[in-house]
Amino acid sequence: MQWAGAVRGRALVGKVAFVAGASRGIGAAVAVGLAGAGAAVAVAARSESRGRLPGTIHGVVERIHAAGGDALAVPCDVTSEESVEAAVAATVAEFGGIDVLVANAGVLWLGPVESTPLARWQRCLDVNLTGVFLVTRAVIPHVRARGGGSLVAVTTTGVGMTDRGANAYWVSKAAVERLYLGLAAELRGANIAVNCLCPNRVVRTEGWVASGGGDLPPEAVEPPETMAAAAVLLAGQDAGGITGTVQRSERLLGLSPSL
Ligand code: NAP
Repeated sequence: MQWAGAVRGRALVGKVAFVAGASRGIGAAVAVGLAGAGAAVAVAARSESRGRLPGTIHGVVERIHAAGGDALAVPCDVTSEESVEAAVAATVAEFGGIDVLVANAGVLWLGPVESTPLARWQRCLDVNLTGVFLVTRAVIPHVRARGGGSLVAVTTTGVGMTDRGANAYWVSKAAVERLYLGLAAELRGANIAVNCLCPNRVVRTEGWVASGGGDLPPEAVEPPETMAAAAVLLAGQDAGGITGTVQRSERLLGLSPSL
């Protein structure tokens, strides 16, 4: 299968990846997956110690080290320009550059427009959209300096589900897709692939459960490792490969073309 090579192979040896939102959930699985494929990984998020939800950047780094991989914990709040710049600088100081970004940090709010407090709306835009803008803008010069690389933003199939209503979360992710599709054109000449990646089905992460996600039938769920495998595949691209696309994890991997 196409994806098996991407997962088992060491396709990313010599590459440096920055994963924003990597303390738990999909981001943690992606960080572990990229390290398993040979990349040195900057594990970036805010949680340095256990908070309301399980998962810390240090715990994920320990997991990667225990498996023989290379990783660095970088405290990072994607809504703060200063914090993002410091996290990227720490990564470059440790690993010598950046080839891959996975902009995964996100917050969920699925309330209808009428009952959405301004603070919720703003938080979705700040983390999900401005956060992607800030981390992307900060890594681009470093990826350019490598002569090419890959940027991946994690979005959602909800962007297309207009029949299910509107909410701040889907709006913020729709804007990210427009940002990244345009950025693919801007960065083609720099040999940088730019793509969005969504889970094909729900990933039952800590954040998803905490935000009220109830029980789901098994057929509605995919494991976080599927997103990790898809991210590894996209991380290995440059502008000569897959770029300017919105991908679904299982479809990209050829696992579930009918969904
Ligand atoms: P999660 O379990 O809540 O994890 C979210 C991650 O984002 C955490 O590592 C969190 O770390 C980080 N984060 C949140 N705010 C941040 C900030 N201001 N600065 C830096 N990092 C921040 O969520 P998930 O389910 O894994 O979702 C990950 C991504 O996939 C999100 O973008 C989400 O929209 C997307 N997605 C998920 C699903 C799904 O089925 N789960 C479906 C479609 C799309 P700290 O709290 O430590 O900062």
